[in-house]
Amino acid sequence: MSGWLRFRHGPLALPEQQDGPLIELRHVIKTFESAAGTFTALKNIDLQIERGEFVAVIGKSGSGKSTLINMITGIDHPTSGEVIVAGSPIHTFGENRLATWRGHAIGIVFQFFQLLPTLSVIENVMLPMDFASRYPGRERHDRAMALLAQFDLADHADKLPAALSGGQQQRVAIARALANDPPLLVADEPTGNLDSRTAEQVFDLFEQLVENGKTIVMVTHDQDLAKRVNRTVIIADGAVIDEYLAQALPVLSEALLIKATQQLETHDYPPGTQIIREGQPAENFYIITRGRVEVVLQEPQGHQIVVATMGPGQYFGEIELLHGGGAPATVRAALKSGVQVIALDHNEFAAIMAESQAAHAAIVQVAEQRAAENRAARELEAANV
Ligand code: ADP
Ligand code: MG
Repeated sequence: MSGWLRFRHGPLALPEQQDGPLIELRHVIKTFESAAGTFTALKNIDLQIERGEFVAVIGKSGSGKSTLINMITGIDHPTSGEVIVAGSPIHTFGENRLATWRGHAIGIVFQFFQLLPTLSVIENVMLPMDFASRYPGRERHDRAMALLAQFDLADHADKLPAALSGGQQQRVAIARALANDPPLLVADEPTGNLDSRTAEQVFDLFEQLVENGKTIVMVTHDQDLAKRVNRTVIIADGAVIDEYLAQALPVLSEALLIKATQQLETHDYPPGTQIIREGQPAENFYIITRGRVEVVLQEPQGHQIVVATMGPGQYFGEIELLHGGGAPATVRAALKSGVQVIALDHNEFAAIMAESQAAHAAIVQVAEQRAAENRAARELEAANV
């Protein structure tokens, strides 16, 4: 690397900023060349992961999960686009700089543990400390012992990895990944080679680490484990599908989910903000991602009835978009929580409905049921005055 670049980034190569997302992928494309031609494994991925998130990456075999993970660890480079991790633009780094960066910024856990077979358990855990110079030599042994003790492995410190069970070896690998106390742990199917009870224990360990402030990004095939994280990143055919969109419209095809995800816009509304006003046409189809909304009917006498509240994965705006005309009710951000939504523009919503009869039928059914509930609420109200 040239002296100029070295100078520009500072001699210590620790340009970690504390604000902004911990991981940011911008327009990441990854292609592989083979005799058969060019294969695009990642198709323009935009992704942000915040500090403290516990993220599961899920998707079919061959969808691009490992390729995505390899972008975050710098094990592989994007063909185009940017990868910023812990403040470092790692897509610009050469191998030496990446190795130094990895040593303190990230811990990596693999499916097949990848412990060095000729080193003892404690030597495996000390190895990353010997490569990075974060901890002085005399502290490394004690720190490795403390990590092993934390994972219930102190008695095995002097054994060779082969003498341990799979679950124990994976716990050693996690201790090794944490050797230099990185803020981020990245794991590609870390429980893929473990029985379900042992997988559960590894997962419990990850939960504890997240509680103590680590950020974890984990590829998993295990649906039950994936349900316990804060956030799921769904990969299909080299693209990201929004998890709330997939939850709201599960009947959409993968291709339509990918297309719609790329058109979504995120909006945050403070408590009490009107998102749809009764009688006005709707601009968007909305899916809730955080917080709640209240659905409110305005009565002629001037008072309001809250007919429903809705939370993450539920949608609104569909009645007026399907039938045209004004909204049958006001929808506002809940007074207690406010709300975050993803919005699909009405033209894009119409295009998706035209392409998916199944999604159209499902939404029509929900819309009819809600319209009936609104009528019943108004009748009840009228009878009571
Ligand atoms: P997953 O981890 O979701 O199973 P991968 O990210 O490993 O999927 O692979 C995604 C696609 O990219 C697959 O079709 C795979 O064959 C292809 N691929 C991955 N790595 C390479 C490579 N080094 N060379 C060529 N094709 C690759
Ligand atoms: Mg994989």
